[in-house]
Amino acid sequence: MSIVLLPMRLKARLVGFGVGVRNHRMVHLSDDERLFFSMFAAQSSTAIENARLYEALGQANLTLEEKVHERTHDLQEANTRLRELDQIKSNFISMVSHELRTPLTAIKGFIVTLFHYDKEISEEKRHLYLGVLNEETDRLTRLITELLDISRIESGRVDIQWSPVSVPTLVRRVFDTLAIKADAVRLVQDFPADFPDIAADSDKIEQVLMNLISNALKYSPEGGLVRVSGFRQGDEIEITVEDEGPGIPASEQEKIFDKFYRQDNETNRKNPGTGLGLPICRTLIHLHGGKVWVRSEPGQGCHFIFRLPLNLDKSEGPRG
Ligand code: ADP
Repeated sequence: MSIVLLPMRLKARLVGFGVGVRNHRMVHLSDDERLFFSMFAAQSSTAIENARLYEALGQANLTLEEKVHERTHDLQEANTRLRELDQIKSNFISMVSHELRTPLTAIKGFIVTLFHYDKEISEEKRHLYLGVLNEETDRLTRLITELLDISRIESGRVDIQWSPVSVPTLVRRVFDTLAIKADAVRLVQDFPADFPDIAADSDKIEQVLMNLISNALKYSPEGGLVRVSGFRQGDEIEITVEDEGPGIPASEQEKIFDKFYRQDNETNRKNPGTGLGLPICRTLIHLHGGKVWVRSEPGQGCHFIFRLPLNLDKSEGPRG
């Protein structure tokens, strides 16, 4: 038996190990056979190398295609996001101009009337006009306060004044303030007797509750229930503000925490707003080391839930 082993080279590089030939009768190779085998080896080397290159090229092409696909997708997403932000910005500018101008026009109109027609206006009408002036100035104050809040928050100029805070007491206070607007809505609070105080900034937690509870009221149907409840779990408390309003579709549940974002619906068209309430709540809760989210099924109302750490190391300790 004879075995012919030929190095398969391409340029100076060994690309394969050789061609083995078994031939019982062959003892040694003639010159022609040598030539034949070395040409065969050379051809095979080229073929193998080509196949390898082809495979590598295919792989490289595939990776490149994937990369291009990924980048295109990223760019498209960035582009969509930019367009959304642009839309939010122009909505905001037109909202602020509208929101500022509407109450100002009303205020100016009623003041001019009271000023010029003072003697002719009945007591009843004067009372009505003053009521409108009161409401419209409140609306302006709310808008300006929220704009200032968000700008203070964004530039990191918010201090947390830690002190012992009883959340149920704050809820009671917010209910008292809102009772006059609650009309046909039932306000209920539900906390266990041993619900703990936490260390927090009382004004800021009250602001969070005020925002969430007034939203719940705004979206409640007549006769609806707004319930605020809480419990302690380990070193945290969890508070839920729930209503029986229209709810929020899953696709909107994160967006409503974006600045200036408002859903396009009937209630929002009737009720002016800035879309700043929830982003302010979220930032205030983050500043306390907590988190806030919403759980909702359309048509089944909303549960706005927030968790706060007890943060007991932040103040003298809870009140008795
Ligand atoms: P604003 O109330 O000024 O619109 P918010 O940031 O408080 O701004 O709320 C953002 C949006 O979230 C609202 O415009 C509304 O579409 C939605 N939303 C908030 N609370 C509720 C709720 N309880 N029920 C239904 N939708 C709500």
